[in-house]
Amino acid sequence: MRFEDLKLNHNLLNAVRTEGYTQPTPIQEQAIPHVLAGKDLLGCAQTGTGKTAAFALPLLQRLAASGNGNGRRPIRTLVLAPTRELANQIGESFRAYGRHTGLKVAVIYGGVGQNPQVQALKRGVDILVATPGRLLDLIGQGHVHLEHAEALVLDEADRMLDMGFIHDVRRVVKVLPKQRQTLLFSATMPRDIQELADAILVDPVQVSVAPPTMTVEETKQAVYFVEKSSKIELLQHLLDDPAVTRVLVFTRTKHGANRVVKQLSRARVAAEPIHGNKSQTARERALANFKSGRTRVLVATDIAARGIDVEDITHVINYDLPNEPETYVHRIGRTGRAGASGIALSFCSVDERAYLKDIERLIRQHVAVVDGHPYISTQAPAAPAKSEGRRRQHTKPQNGKTNGNSRSSCNRNKQNRAGAQQTQGHASSASRQPANRHQRSAPKPAPSSDERRPPRLIR
Ligand code: AMP
Repeated sequence: MRFEDLKLNHNLLNAVRTEGYTQPTPIQEQAIPHVLAGKDLLGCAQTGTGKTAAFALPLLQRLAASGNGNGRRPIRTLVLAPTRELANQIGESFRAYGRHTGLKVAVIYGGVGQNPQVQALKRGVDILVATPGRLLDLIGQGHVHLEHAEALVLDEADRMLDMGFIHDVRRVVKVLPKQRQTLLFSATMPRDIQELADAILVDPVQVSVAPPTMTVEETKQAVYFVEKSSKIELLQHLLDDPAVTRVLVFTRTKHGANRVVKQLSRARVAAEPIHGNKSQTARERALANFKSGRTRVLVATDIAARGIDVEDITHVINYDLPNEPETYVHRIGRTGRAGASGIALSFCSVDERAYLKDIERLIRQHVAVVDGHPYISTQAPAAPAKSEGRRRQHTKPQNGKTNGNSRSSCNRNKQNRAGAQQTQGHASSASRQPANRHQRSAPKPAPSSDERRPPRLIR
């Protein structure tokens, strides 16, 4: 399918061309016609799938078509996002896709002074992108009026839930006109989100895409079994490789992120942390430095990383494995954006083995193990017979919960089926790859090993 087939007007088609998009992503194919038709929509998709354009393009077209009445610019579209980074990114996307429409976009979020935001609102805004807390603040102060809103988008609804924003979201919804178009996007569909969707969507179209399959297949993955106490040395060892140019490292905690940065800085590696305890200015500076290449390593926690859309991240390193397997997929989706392949490396200590199993079950593949590295755990699992490895690689995932903490994915089975169809092209190109492509992509074998020999698989 081409963008032209989606009945987008020439202003939007031009903008899409300027962005370099050649064809719509699956979520765009599925969502754009319904949103253009004014339908409510429940989208099961995460960042990295092209979902922003899936709602921004048709909403821009509808807004441009309905004009802005008497030269006034009341807010006609409201987008709620859980984090400042994501809000900024959505705002940038609306501006880029809407560059030929003359529509005005403003982004508001907490943690920074409100005056510039209030000034922007006074100048007139067609599309407001906001985090819920600051929005409620400004509504309370009479700076935001939503009585003319025609559309509401809730993006990353599950993250809003995680971050405790769900009540704020409900309060915002209450002040919006009942007659409106509502779109809700979520990577997972826990019960609270389903209930929220039932309460605020009217006869919604449901669309679901499976970026995990696509991302996972496009990303070269490897795991290092390592003692917890040696993770920092292993990280430094990997960073000795100059090919590891732009690296996003994930830690479980904010404290852990700070510690890693401190230790890397001592070793004269340009690293910065990004997490919720940092001020907005510090987060923006860290992101800008990372984007410009001044900072080589950005160390992030999951929530802070959700809005990060930086091109050319060569490596994602899971310093700590996440206890929710879906989070692994979100993380590795940060590398290899929009078709380019990236490398995801995971450090797995003894207490994280169960997480690795859950991840492999979810992604339906075994992650290649890098054997020949100098910090290998003395408790690394022994290599099974080759045939067992082969057999296990083809073992189907078990249905049902993957671990006690995991939340339900939106129609995971359906998602996987959909993913299999949508990513046929990727799957077939992947199947042409040599079986050991992950090993070849592992960045650095042990210093003692022959450079030409890939690290040996131990299972
Ligand atoms: P999103 O899921 O909206 O955060 O988008 C993820 C990335 O995909 C962003 O960098 C977009 O610029 C990019 N993108 C969105 N739509 C397309 C498309 N049709 N073709 C190529 N890249 C796209």
